Amino acid sequence: MKLRIVYDNEAKEGLESDWGFACLLEAEKSILFDTGASAEILSRNMQRLELKKEDIEIIALSHEHWDHIGGLDAVLHQNVAVYVPSSFTRGTKKRIEEKAAEVVEVSGPADIVPGVHTTGELRAGAGIKEQSLVLDTKECEGVVVLTGCAHPGLENILEAAKGFGELYGVIGGFHGFDNLKSLETLKMIIPCHCTVHKEEIRRRYSEKAVWCGAGVVIEI
Ligand SMILES: [Zn+2]
Ligand SMILES: [Zn+2]
Repeated sequence: MKLRIVYDNEAKEGLESDWGFACLLEAEKSILFDTGASAEILSRNMQRLELKKEDIEIIALSHEHWDHIGGLDAVLHQNVAVYVPSSFTRGTKKRIEEKAAEVVEVSGPADIVPGVHTTGELRAGAGIKEQSLVLDTKECEGVVVLTGCAHPGLENILEAAKGFGELYGVIGGFHGFDNLKSLETLKMIIPCHCTVHKEEIRRRYSEKAVWCGAGVVIEI
């Protein structure tokens, strides 16, 4: 499966960086995970990567913060199904329904397409509910977890993802996660977006932690 980062706080030359996150998965279907903060920036980055919104078959939104759903208008179209945590507000669901084929509400763990699963909406304390994706690697070495902001806590998300297989790697926003030692057993660590301890993670796990930014392509 190929993953392309299309929106991130950092970017490769020729692409725009901005606070937010979006990643396109080339799985059995073309799946966009999150949409960044700005529809204009998402459109421009997609154009430069020669990606068309009509080719996106599924959009999965991690949580209802502006830096993950703000770019929706750039990618919604009549034939796309949008997977959202069922806790999304009625207003946002309605806004999506008007421009998409279907809104699929996610509660518990589920399969989206073969090889792509969702943890279901998770929540820590009174925090915001968030879903993360769990991806099977091609050679079946385990699963790679794709997070938005990791508001439920990265450790809780990784624990939930174990239900789909042995943990191989993690990609995305880790937020304030600081139990770096717990990542030791992973083979791929790609801290993106809001990860506070990005530099430290890359230094500590230099052999398996890759730089993240818009334009980066990851094969799993
Ligand atoms: Zn957030
Ligand atoms: Zn975020």
